[in-house]
Amino acid sequence: MTKTLLLDCGSGGRASQRLINELFLSHFDNPVLRTLDDAAKLDIKGPIAMGTDGYTVAPPFFPGGNIGTLAIHGTVNDVSMLGARPRYLTCSFILEEGLDLELLERIVASMGEAARNAGVLIVSGDTKVVPRGMCDKLFITTAGVGEILVDPAPSGSSARPGDAILVSGAVGDHGLAVLGQRDSLSFLQGVESDSAALNRMVERLVLEVGDIHVLRDPTRGGLATTLNEIAGQSGVVCMLEEEHIPLHDAVRSGCDVLGLDPLYLANEGKLLCFLPEEKAEAALAVMRSDPHGGEAARIGTVYAPEAPSRPGQVILKTPIGGKRLLSMLEGDQLPRIC
Ligand code: MG
Repeated sequence: MTKTLLLDCGSGGRASQRLINELFLSHFDNPVLRTLDDAAKLDIKGPIAMGTDGYTVAPPFFPGGNIGTLAIHGTVNDVSMLGARPRYLTCSFILEEGLDLELLERIVASMGEAARNAGVLIVSGDTKVVPRGMCDKLFITTAGVGEILVDPAPSGSSARPGDAILVSGAVGDHGLAVLGQRDSLSFLQGVESDSAALNRMVERLVLEVGDIHVLRDPTRGGLATTLNEIAGQSGVVCMLEEEHIPLHDAVRSGCDVLGLDPLYLANEGKLLCFLPEEKAEAALAVMRSDPHGGEAARIGTVYAPEAPSRPGQVILKTPIGGKRLLSMLEGDQLPRIC
């Protein structure tokens, strides 16, 4: 195999076959993929959750992960947020001519490992090579399906007045870690992406705790934007206690220096959970016993909108008793973060 990717590796001919066999099959291997049919035959019972996401993060490697692990974790998490057990993923790669094959292999190997760790199979895929300059190294699209484990499934429109709002850990790490890597900011060296699969935590939440109204991963746009989406979909008000929102010191100080608000930075290994008040402690105990939920916290409560507040609002109570409105992210604070 040559050291860099040639255009004919995407031709569908011998060079493509070699790339698929030597690289993708060796790292993604499983009985479903191995059939190499046009589509994967899946054994799965409905109702199912299905999601897809494209990944364009720059640079492709950052502290705590890379574009490939992100593509696995992101789609596993999106499927999980419906209270589902993710089972199968597909991966589509857009590769730039001249891409370093060693870099590609590191990414593909880490994807295989991330999928095995999450307990999902990569069952179908596609590879295209585009001429130099037509994409930046590589873009990856993953899709995933999983079995929904509970009825009703959690939904962004199911938040109810009185619900406790929980977050599974500290926020803002992913966005800041990618920014630090991209701009070589040495003062952000201690900040690592939180990229992780949350499917096992979700499975325990929905099956052991139960009555989970909302699950959502606060990715692009961060905690503040995701809460705005949920408040809007459910027609409620989310009241947050600023001092209870977990934040790593390095993220807090990095954001101060850069003038960024950590509540709007992307997360790739965190979830928001809304559920009845009386279940909050049990859910926190489940989160904290998970490898990715050690810093889980209750950060707020859902209220029915009463004047002067309006449905869809997210209000942050500061430690000294002030209140400010957290609006949706305007524009893009950081492009190509995932
Ligand atoms: Mg999501």
